[in-house]
Amino acid sequence: MIPNYSSESFVETFLPKKKSNQADKEVLEIARKIIDDIRANGDEALKKYVKKFDGGVPKRWEVTKEERLDAWNQVSNETIDSLKKAADNIRSFHSKQLQSSRFMDVNDEIISGQLFRPIERVGIYVPGGTACYPSSVLMNAIPAVLAGVEEVIMVTPARNGESIAPILSVAADIAGVTTIYKIGGIQAIASIAYGTETIPTVDKIVGPGNAYVAAAKSLVFGDVGIDMIAGPSEVAIIADRSARPEYIASDLIAQAEHDKNARAFLFSTSEALIKQTIVEVEKQCAILPRREIAESALKVKSAVVLVKDIDKAFELVNLLAPEHLEIQLVDPLSYLGKVKNAGSVFLGNYTPEALGDYYAGPNHVLPTSGTARFSSGLSVDDFLKKTTFLYYSENALKQASSHVVNIAMEEQLAGHARAVQKRINKNDESS
Ligand code: NAD
Repeated sequence: MIPNYSSESFVETFLPKKKSNQADKEVLEIARKIIDDIRANGDEALKKYVKKFDGGVPKRWEVTKEERLDAWNQVSNETIDSLKKAADNIRSFHSKQLQSSRFMDVNDEIISGQLFRPIERVGIYVPGGTACYPSSVLMNAIPAVLAGVEEVIMVTPARNGESIAPILSVAADIAGVTTIYKIGGIQAIASIAYGTETIPTVDKIVGPGNAYVAAAKSLVFGDVGIDMIAGPSEVAIIADRSARPEYIASDLIAQAEHDKNARAFLFSTSEALIKQTIVEVEKQCAILPRREIAESALKVKSAVVLVKDIDKAFELVNLLAPEHLEIQLVDPLSYLGKVKNAGSVFLGNYTPEALGDYYAGPNHVLPTSGTARFSSGLSVDDFLKKTTFLYYSENALKQASSHVVNIAMEEQLAGHARAVQKRINKNDESS
């Protein structure tokens, strides 16, 4: 079912196309119109679009305290326990990313340093259209709370126009979300970017969503920050004879069941392993509830590639810059040094990507479509601003003055030069 590619044909077919993450023009146009309407008409426009797209308008946008409490009675204790354990792991991993404000240079004459300050208000988009993703709540909200963000505002569309899935509310409580609004799609992004009479504005919007949500995020960027524009999810697996075809097959399928555009790749030095994996994929797909989606993604968007050696596999993977990379080789840790471009790496036969998607600690919001060449997964850093600071004594400025003036004059900015000269030659009227 997954087609075979040579190294050369893989490069031609799958390497990142520029701007492949851009929303299509029609979706962008729809998003632009809705955003303009919300900016001009606030709640009235918001109501109109929520009614149109989500089947009804909730009595109030905010999920009340009572609704949030009641949600806990609607989720099983086992699931609550699993969410809490996952949250602990995510919190523990991300807490080690925190950095403190610090001095860089300190002596009698010069002090410099860097302040870390949290973004004040962050909006988290949680998809609620066709599925329900409590893991998205944890992965997006926990780093924000750890960074010290004062208000973490979550938006997610209501089901049948009234309530949100209880498990999303429980996950929000566990993660420390301040307020939840029952709004979704373009109208939610517009509302938290620009505010309405009842919805507050935020400084940055993070979180996944469908093509409409992605288009809206790309349009509000600049007025607010955004995390990234995510493309279809993808995994690349590098495996040798020591790997288990049934494990590899299950990981390829786990990726492919996301949606028809998901991409799953296997690079191996072993022809036998590739053949056995293909057989396993057919077997496991046959009993998959989302079989149709997975089979389509595997047939059309995925590939198995026989490589001449492991170095060639890493060369192709580094060109691909996949969102997820699994290394199923003997002594997998020893290959970490070969990874140049990848969102997140999963090492060994017992570290499936699904472990990281839900539970282990590293973030699952990762760069897709080759953008791991220049960007990284969501972290505490995404919710912090860095402000540098500087102090010079009079004597230190004197020492530096000629250099500053030289460069300023080269740039023909006499005012800059004067800002230094005035201080050095205090009594000289001509300076
Ligand atoms: P969603 O919440 O993203 O979208 C639902 C909203 O889309 C609706 O509320 C509606 O307002 C809007 N909408 C629907 N049809 C529209 C139309 N014709 N015109 C304008 N607006 C319209 O939920 P979803 O649709 O289920 O999509 C979830 C997406 O999130 C999927 O693509 C999934 O792959 C992705 N996802 C990604 C990750 C990740 O980490 N990368 C995680 C979870 C989900």
